[in-house]
Amino acid sequence: MTADTTTAEAGRDFIRDIVQADLDSKRHARVVTRFPPEPNGYLHIGHAKSIALNFGIAQEFGGKCHLRFDDTNPAKEEQEYIDSIQRDVRWLGFDWGDNLFYASDYFERLYGWAEDLIRAGLAYVDDQSQEEIRLARGTLTEPGRNSPFRDRSVEENLDLFRRMKAGEFPNGARVLRARIDMTAGNINLRDPVLYRILHAEHPRTGRAWSIYPSYDYAHGQSDAIEGITHSICTLEFEDHRPLYEWLLDKLPVPSHPHQYEFARLNLTYTLLSKRVLTELVRGGHVGGWDDPRMPTIAGLKRRGVPPEAIREFVKRIGVAKANSVVDVGMLEFCIREVLNRTSQRRMAVLRPLKVVIENYPEGQTEELEAVNHPDDPAAGTRTITFGRELYIERDDFMEDPPKKFFRLSPGKEVRLRYAYFLTCRDVVKDASGEVIELRCTYDPATKGGNAPDGRKVKATMHWLSAAQSVPAEIRIYNPLFTNPAPDAANFAADLNPDSLEVLRDARIEPAVATANSDDVMQFERQGYFVRDRDSTPSRPVFNRTIGLRDSFAKDAAKS
Ligand code: ATP
Ligand code: MG
Repeated sequence: MTADTTTAEAGRDFIRDIVQADLDSKRHARVVTRFPPEPNGYLHIGHAKSIALNFGIAQEFGGKCHLRFDDTNPAKEEQEYIDSIQRDVRWLGFDWGDNLFYASDYFERLYGWAEDLIRAGLAYVDDQSQEEIRLARGTLTEPGRNSPFRDRSVEENLDLFRRMKAGEFPNGARVLRARIDMTAGNINLRDPVLYRILHAEHPRTGRAWSIYPSYDYAHGQSDAIEGITHSICTLEFEDHRPLYEWLLDKLPVPSHPHQYEFARLNLTYTLLSKRVLTELVRGGHVGGWDDPRMPTIAGLKRRGVPPEAIREFVKRIGVAKANSVVDVGMLEFCIREVLNRTSQRRMAVLRPLKVVIENYPEGQTEELEAVNHPDDPAAGTRTITFGRELYIERDDFMEDPPKKFFRLSPGKEVRLRYAYFLTCRDVVKDASGEVIELRCTYDPATKGGNAPDGRKVKATMHWLSAAQSVPAEIRIYNPLFTNPAPDAANFAADLNPDSLEVLRDARIEPAVATANSDDVMQFERQGYFVRDRDSTPSRPVFNRTIGLRDSFAKDAAKS
């Protein structure tokens, strides 16, 4: 485990310490943070870390947190993403109140400030191609070279910039660049691009603009307009901070926010990059943004992960300044912890094997009482139907078992949960030799699962009545990648071909079939399951949220 647990346990981290100090010193009367997603994809669990940090700080310190869409690149942004992001932030349990903003709300003001920079000799229109600009930028060890267009007059720059805005030039023909220093050690200060030409339909401003501000230009100024006190972002923006400051210093902005950087969330077996997630969706590697194998908030939700588990997870990992990779087992641990507490128990047979109880009267059934939650009597009980023909789990039977196999085999006696002791007498096979049915007997004296003579059995198994259970499809999810550190540049090579297992012949209790759509249930001995939206009245479909086995705790105990 790489999390910074000491600070997490105290509910403190270096950013909260800074906020506290700024409030104590009266530098700020009230803290204002923001979560600034670009609407070019769905939110993922890494974003949840940033959301919990920004909204959490606002809550804890009596401030507010804005939701601001960084909608500055219409080529990649869509209304679908704007809608999904709002849905997902709310689902995670956070509320921006009236504070919903868009960088596009500020396009007019940002444009005016760009003209101010031109008039001050601090920005110029560059006619070089993107490639030429890139080549002249230099490297970490070599300075950049000045653009041949760097010394244009203010008048010429203003004229060209206005014509860029008017839509006179094609995409990529020109850009507006800040005029800072092509020899700066920090490459971000080598005349960064402030505006580019882009003829595209913007989800909110339509065709009104033909130029769009860069992230670096829009971001700090949007923060300043909104009076953000602590602009919190991930470490890759640390090198952009001098540019953030430079722009705020040069422009007549209404406030001067400060940027603070923290380590982004990385998870084993997971890629948290919108580019990769977009390619997974577009390439048909998954069923969509909310495919339960995706690390998106929508995918986790569809999979049955409770928002409380995500909040607990991001709290446990803490907020640190150094990049690290968190074991995905830690997320699984948090999911199990919440679901073990909150989900009702049911029985389901994932891979059914038929059992006929030869000494149970034909046509007879009986109702047995089953407990809904072992630790919560208030959850009550339900009845399940026992009868002559049952299904048990195929894996719970072995015709020729090794010594340590304590479940059912010929001649062996086991307990059926809530019911009776059962003994296997005979095995029925099909023409290919596969076991298709077990002939068994039960002991009527063991009702409730105990023998009056005190004899013991070593296994208790789940089961369902063949007639009273309902057929269902169950989807089991495995990690999307086989590699603990998947290669983002070549992710297809690391894809797990067995990330989805579909069990089409599963059986569930009738009470499961009629459950509320978002109630996660524990199928005893199998894990946690939730109804999928692909369900139809005649064919329920369930997703396995997660298995019962707690591999994380075991690994942690070993180390
Ligand atoms: P990409 O995945 O392509 O890098 P992005 O995730 O940075 O894009 P944004 O919409 O700009 O996309 O992210 C919104 C906010 O979420 C940013 O402040 C960003 O720093 C933060 N964020 C993004 N990924 C993570 C992560 N893995 N952990 C923590 N915060 C993150
Ligand atoms: Mg980003």
